[in-house]
This record gives sequence, C-alpha cells and structure tokens, in this order.
Amino acid sequence: MAQSRSDARRLGVFLLLLYLFLILLPVILAALQGREPRPWRDDLASGLAMAGFAMLLAEFLLSGRSRRLSARVGMDVVMRFHQFMGHALLLFLLFHPFLYSLPMNVQPYGEPDAATWLSLPLWPGVTGLLAWMGLGLLVLLAVARDALPFRYEAWRFWHGFGALVIALFALHHTLAVGRYSQEPLLAAFWWVATALAVLALLHVHLWTPLRQRRRPYRVTSLDRAADRTWVVELEPDKAAGHDGSAFPYRAGQFAWLKLKRPLFRITEHPFSLSSAPAASAQLEFTIKEAGDFTSRIGELPLGTRAYLDGPYGNFTLEEGDARPLVLIAGGVGMAPIMSLLRQLKASGSLRSIVLLQANRHEGQILYRTELAEMAQSMPLRVHYMLAEPPANWPDLSGIPDGDALEQLLPEEQRRSSVYYVCGPAAMIDVIEAALDHRFRVPAEQVCSERFRYSFGARAGSAGRALLAFSAITLVALGAVLAFALR
Ligand SMILES: Cc1cc2nc3c(=O)[nH]c(=O)nc-3n(C[C@H](O)[C@H](O)[C@H](O)COP(=O)(O)OP(=O)(O)OC[C@H]3O[C@@H](n4cnc5c(N)ncnc54)[C@H](O)[C@@H]3O)c2cc1C
Repeated sequence: MAQSRSDARRLGVFLLLLYLFLILLPVILAALQGREPRPWRDDLASGLAMAGFAMLLAEFLLSGRSRRLSARVGMDVVMRFHQFMGHALLLFLLFHPFLYSLPMNVQPYGEPDAATWLSLPLWPGVTGLLAWMGLGLLVLLAVARDALPFRYEAWRFWHGFGALVIALFALHHTLAVGRYSQEPLLAAFWWVATALAVLALLHVHLWTPLRQRRRPYRVTSLDRAADRTWVVELEPDKAAGHDGSAFPYRAGQFAWLKLKRPLFRITEHPFSLSSAPAASAQLEFTIKEAGDFTSRIGELPLGTRAYLDGPYGNFTLEEGDARPLVLIAGGVGMAPIMSLLRQLKASGSLRSIVLLQANRHEGQILYRTELAEMAQSMPLRVHYMLAEPPANWPDLSGIPDGDALEQLLPEEQRRSSVYYVCGPAAMIDVIEAALDHRFRVPAEQVCSERFRYSFGARAGSAGRALLAFSAITLVALGAVLAFALR
C-alpha cells in the first residue's frame, strides 16, 4: 500500500524518537540503580560509553536491510543516518576513556589481586583497547573508502565483520568493567542488544541467501542499450526450483543482484528495476559499466543464474496522486524513471508528464524509440539535454539546473508538479537546491534516488532536517548524560 510522503515524514520522526529512547535506555537503567554519585566527569564518561555502545549496536540494525524501512523512509536516508551516527558514536567512544578521573575499582572476577593493565583488569583492558582502536580504524576506512585500493565488496565484508568483532570486544569490556553494567538488568540489556545486532548481520549474510536459494532467476536477454550501458532481463528459473511467483516490487524500486557467483559470496550490487510490474512479467535492469562487476555485464552468457534480494527503496509513485509529474534523469538514472513511465502507461494514467533525460553525448541516450512511442499515446513531453551536443542539436544543451527547469516549465507547473530525480549526486544536488531555494517547491513534492551513499553529499531538505535533528539530539544527549547519572 502506497503511503504519502507526509506519512513517511511522521514515521521518520517516530523512528528517530524510538532510536533516541533505545540508545538512552542503558543510561536510564543505570540512573535507576540509584548508586552513589561520582565526580561528574566519571559519570559522563560512563554515560558516553553506554550511549556510544548502544549506538554501535543500533548501526547493525540500520544497515540490516529492512525492506519496510527502506520502502517507507528511503534507503539513502537510512544509510546517511547510519553514517552520521557512526561518526557520532566514534566521538563518544573515543573520548570516554580520557574523561575518567577515578581509577577503576571493579573486580569482576572476584580476584582482588587480578593483574591490571592501564588500571583495568587485564582482559577487559585489552578488549576495551582493541575495540577502541578497531572502531577508529573502521570509521577511517569507511570515510576513505573511495580512495582505498580494495574492491568495494571486500571493503563491505570487512566493514560488517570488523564491526561485529568490535561489538563483541566492547561487550566483553562493558560486562567486565562497566560500573553500571554489573547489575543483571543492564547486563541483560547488553546481551539482548548484541544478539539483535548479530541477528541483523546473519539476516543479510545467511538468512537472505538461504531464502534466495529457493528463488533462482536466469538471464533471458542481454542487449546493448547505449554507450557502455546494458539492458539485462531476468525470469524465474522454474527448472531450478523457483515457484514462478512474481517478484513483489513497485515501479521505481531497486533490488540487490547477484550473478553467477556462489550464493554466500558477497558479490551483490544494488540496481533499480527498469521494468514495471503492471507492464511486464520479465524483470529488467539497465546497467552502466562503472567498475569491476558492471564492466563485465556485457559478457554474460544467456541462462546465467541470478539471485535477487528486494525490493527496496521509496522512489515510487503515490497512489491516487494526480498532480503533474516532472521526471529528471541523468545517465543511467533513467532506469527507475523508465520503470515509473512504464507503470504509468500500463495503468492508463492521464497525469501530465515532462521527462528531461540528460547525458553527456547523444550515444548515451536511453530508450529513445520507446519514449517516442509513449509520447504518442500518453500526455508525455520528452526532452533530451546533452552536455556535449552535436552541431545543430535541436533540443537542450548543458546540464540540468534551475535555468533548464525555468526554460522547460511554466511557473504554475513548476510549483504544482511532483518531481522525481535520479542521476549523478552532483546533478541531484543542483536540482534539489533549485527546487528548494529558487522555486520554493515543498520538499514533499520532491523525491530523489541516489546511486551512491556518500556522507559528503549535499543533504536535501529532508536530509538537512535529519542532520539538524541528529545534531540537536547529540547535544541534548550529552547534557542528559552528564546529569542523569548524578
Ligand atoms: C539504490 C541504488 C540503485 C542503483 N541502480 C542502478 C541502476 O539501475 N543501474 C546502474 O547502472 N547502477 C545502479 N546503481 C549503481 C550500482 O550499484 C554501481 O554502479 C555498481 O554497484 C558498481 O559496481 P562495480 O563493482 O562495477 O564498480 P565499483 O568500482 O566496485 O564501484 C563503484 C561505486 O559503486 C558503488 N558500489 C559498488 N558496489 C556496491 C555495492 N555492492 N553496494 C552499494 N554500492 C556499491 C560504490 O559507491 C562504489 O564506489 C545503483 C546504486 C544504488 C545504491
């Protein structure tokens, strides 16, 4: 069932409050123990450690591929929150050891003469230090990911596995020397939260592949659609055990695709479906050569085994919405937009649509023939914009920006339209900024899909609200922590 963007915003606020409650829960449980207050620096240190550890465990859930969450609030919002909170928890956990003013006097094993190291019992000291150093390394490698000489898949595997090892070290350290975590209730909280984090990881790397094994697909067609871009079609492989049921996606969503490789290897990549459920039983992906995996797509033999995990994402049409549409695609960002167009056509929609497809050169234009046919049978106006147009190019030239929108759309249509934008991050940033600042189009009327989850990308208005909320939350959290434990 489609939900409106304002429902999604309300749900987002609810989830943020729930998040805040959950990461504060260990602090609340500690405060309820009614222990003697210590110097404020020591309680702040304990509070930061507890909130930071709870945030670390929540990171597993945030990256745990919830289809429902991504369909409601959007995968890139979830991923940015994951990245932002990763930075915040790093600060919490890196600083906490330096705030203590009292020596540790926890003797967890009932051995008053236990060896100590850095004023902590030996093993909790070692696990604490390893978790502390590992966390710094994990975040550093995530921030510098694009500059690293490893394959993305290898990075992704080590990011998840490394986070798990860090969480287990942190659990040992917390249960052994955490002043408040000696109480059974708080200790139980840590066990349950760590178990949930492990389950989230197992869900992605074990449960999902096992489920996929029962639903194999095969490649039934492969065509060159444009310069370095391929259209791949899949259908359920009934001979290999697929029950033939339809993949339950909505137009504009994406799936994680694994080709050929053995089931448990981490070789999956996210791609938007360019087919539409109302238009075709075949599943179609439009894939541009971008790196080691995609650059070999054109060599796939027909019949290659494929597995899908999905659908994910909220780049979808709202049910019952009749407002005019403006679709803006940059390069292979045309894939989910083609899915929306095919869905609108198959459902006999009468919505007025303006499509702007932007590319560098003419050889990159996608679906030109099909779009020309569509424009004959539905209220669709198609424009092609080229950064490097040939001589006498009859349509737009340059890159999509506020001026291009002004040129294409009369003021009334600019204000009343719903916008779907997909393409390079820089293009999305420029369009979102123009819609927001220059044309004052409400954020609720703008939906964008990013093909890269980059922390540095400019936040749209929803993203800005999220970041502002997160920043305020963190400052408030710091203040609450300092006083709650006193
Ligand atoms: C929601 C979403 C939808 C997408 N839809 C399409 C589409 O319809 N058509 C299309 O051509 N491309 C799409 N992409 C981009 C596509 O996933 C990458 O181009 C592809 O994974 C690159 O893999 P590679 O090994 O060839 O290149 P690499 O050189 O390994 O990667 C290039 C960049 O792609 C991203 N990337 C690579 N692997 C992954 C991965 N496993 N998970 C997440 N990001 C990864 C990283 O940012 C990386 O820096 C989409 C991406 C996302 C996030």
